[in-house]
Amino acid sequence: MKIGFLHTPDDLRCPISAISLKKYQKIGVSVLAESKALTNSDEELEGKEGIEIASRKDILSQSDIVYCNTPLSPSELKKLNKDAIVVSFYAPFNPENKMDTLKGSDVKAFSMDMIPRTTLAQSMDVLSSMASISGYKAVLLSAEKLPRYFPMMMTAAGTVKPAQVLILGAGVAGLQAIATARKLGAKVQVFDVRKAVKEEVQSLGAKFVEVDGSSDDKAAGGYAIEQSEDYQQRQKEAIHNSVKLADVVITTAQLRGREAPILVTKAMVEDMKAGSVIIDLASSTGGNCEVTKDNEEIKHNGVTVIGDSALYNKAIIDASSLLANNIHNYVATFVKEGAMNVDMENEIISGSLVHPKSE
Ligand code: NAD
Repeated sequence: MKIGFLHTPDDLRCPISAISLKKYQKIGVSVLAESKALTNSDEELEGKEGIEIASRKDILSQSDIVYCNTPLSPSELKKLNKDAIVVSFYAPFNPENKMDTLKGSDVKAFSMDMIPRTTLAQSMDVLSSMASISGYKAVLLSAEKLPRYFPMMMTAAGTVKPAQVLILGAGVAGLQAIATARKLGAKVQVFDVRKAVKEEVQSLGAKFVEVDGSSDDKAAGGYAIEQSEDYQQRQKEAIHNSVKLADVVITTAQLRGREAPILVTKAMVEDMKAGSVIIDLASSTGGNCEVTKDNEEIKHNGVTVIGDSALYNKAIIDASSLLANNIHNYVATFVKEGAMNVDMENEIISGSLVHPKSE
């Protein structure tokens, strides 16, 4: 059985690591890869035992599983081996999804962003791996941009107050951002609609600001749901009070398949101290801050606003290694005794199948 890894110019994370390569050998899967797909790997992979460098054409026609960081084009899907499957990120819930690339094709396509959020699937969760790096890098980036210290400093010339960091959304990225900002000595306040995170936030040494009356839905699989108008209004008032005092605001709030909620309005940004910094990790789905521009750094009324949902690229070697491990753990569910086994009874496999819909 063969798995082939293709290069994409717009996502240069390496999908194979030295460790995952060994693990593929153990489960009897041969690895083919385009040489360019190996950029940013944790170790030099070309020439290592268990990997064959091949052309894109050969990978498409010979592999049983084809992996690509961004989805294949319709014309490339036609070049696949009969019964081959593709694995990528189709973001079917996102308004800017890649589902169109699959129209008219009968290939089975699996999307790693659709893997159910169960304990069993945690080791395959690329979204969490990347969110954690992004939360960490968001804090480092904000510390670099802020014209102040993060920790309290007692010097002969006087005492410097610690920076006030406000984190909106305490999911995977937010929790990592809290831990990192605390390690740097900042005072941290946190908002989240899910009250379940309160204890975790407090155990990291941050203050959880509660707004009563939020709604949860267990059926949302760990994701937050849209809140009532009344709640949103009261939450905005509470956030406004915290934003005014903050030196740094890091926003991470997402709603699956919908635009991110606006939590920091233009008026709030205009109430911030000059020199303050906002890092908006939700920018690819519209952003949590009204003035955010995706993939841009702007100044609004003296406040630096950075919109970047892919800050994990700033630690691309580790992002690649974690991605490679996640892919291996996922692909292993398709392999039984060295042969392909697409078991639709397995909820990880059926949950992540995005095409064809009738399966
Ligand atoms: P996410 O990226 O969808 O959202 C980030 C955070 O923003 C969430 O905590 C969410 O509650 C919050 N948020 C959404 N709307 C908000 C609003 N209006 N105001 C304030 N906060 C708002 O979430 P995530 O980081 O991917 O994770 C969400 C949960 O799922 C976490 O509890 C996480 O531990 C869990 N999870 C479980 C698994 C697993 O079991 N395999 C994997 C990943 C995450």
